[in-house]
Amino acid sequence: MKYIDEFRDLKLAKNLSAKIEKLARGRGRYNFMEVCGTHTNTFYRFGLAKLLPENIRLISGPGCPVCVTDASYIDSAITLAGSGDTIITTFGDMIKVPGSKSSLYRERAKGRNIRIVYSSLDALRIAEENPSKDVIFLGVGFETTAPTVAMAIIEAKKRRVRNFFVYSAHKLIPPAMTAILKDKNVALDGFILPAHVSSIIGADGYKFLKKFNIPGVIAGFEPLDMLQGILLLVMDVNSGKAGIVNEYNRVVHKRGNKRAQEVMQRIFAPCDSVWRGIGRIPKSGLAIRGEFSDFDAEKRFGVKKVKIPIDRRCLCGEVIKGVKLPEDCRLFRKVCTPDNPKGPCMVSSEGTCGIHFRYK
Ligand code: SF4
Ligand code: SF4
Repeated sequence: MKYIDEFRDLKLAKNLSAKIEKLARGRGRYNFMEVCGTHTNTFYRFGLAKLLPENIRLISGPGCPVCVTDASYIDSAITLAGSGDTIITTFGDMIKVPGSKSSLYRERAKGRNIRIVYSSLDALRIAEENPSKDVIFLGVGFETTAPTVAMAIIEAKKRRVRNFFVYSAHKLIPPAMTAILKDKNVALDGFILPAHVSSIIGADGYKFLKKFNIPGVIAGFEPLDMLQGILLLVMDVNSGKAGIVNEYNRVVHKRGNKRAQEVMQRIFAPCDSVWRGIGRIPKSGLAIRGEFSDFDAEKRFGVKKVKIPIDRRCLCGEVIKGVKLPEDCRLFRKVCTPDNPKGPCMVSSEGTCGIHFRYK
């Protein structure tokens, strides 16, 4: 298949792994974080661990929006689902994520009007088709999703749709990476930077890494992309370089997608946000600007988020920060499974625990 097979060629993969092995030999451990869950998926799905020398360790990062959405958000969404004539619309991944007592999946089974959509524009269409109901879209995602949700709000305003609302839990990747770098328990030598987010914010979006003297490589999601990214990181670490390398320049540009950035900035403003397992990170979330508050579910319905004590046995927070592996969690496989997830990292197809469950 054109443009896919070229990036899955086993002979080339073995060549790259031999180069990595040679450069990394006798140099101690390299700890690289793949920020994005889709990279984690590629890494295990294609058995890349077997192609790397033992002293290269890949650590999963916070790049799965489902995993980092706080339980209190799920609880509030459930409350919204139970109030009046409401239709909750959400991406499929969110539906099984556990809140403190229930999930949207269980609430739907009880008869709540909760629908899975494939885009925020689908949610807008549902609002137009159901003028007597309040249609709330659960806005969960990173820089990749936020511009599309912003577009739906702009469209809703243009079409004068008065029953469409967004409950925003959008998050920004650079502040989360900064928080991880400031955590004394985390020791990293480099980042494999998320491909989709990078296509929006561009290579320039990671300039802050310079301050921490740590290299980063923007890599695509195919196996050869990842191996090439790891090779570049090993070279950077060996030579003490701390810049950003763009391996994925067939998609990602230096300044990113200006149009998407403008749309996002028009509708949203940075706000503090709580990340499941990590806690509050300054300016890491996106709140709907006052000018568009008619579409803000939080303001319209007076959503109150209650702080929820987390199950101490669940190690999602540590897994997200790369301090622990899923296998370190007492619940892994025994109590927590994809059919019965106890934490978000087991739910999403990009979740580390789910990936380890399927492929390890
Ligand atoms: S196994 Fe389940 S409970 Fe444990 S860290 Fe993973 S998701 Fe959380
Ligand atoms: S499941 Fe958890 S650890 Fe895995 S990518 Fe998502 S947030 Fe990160």
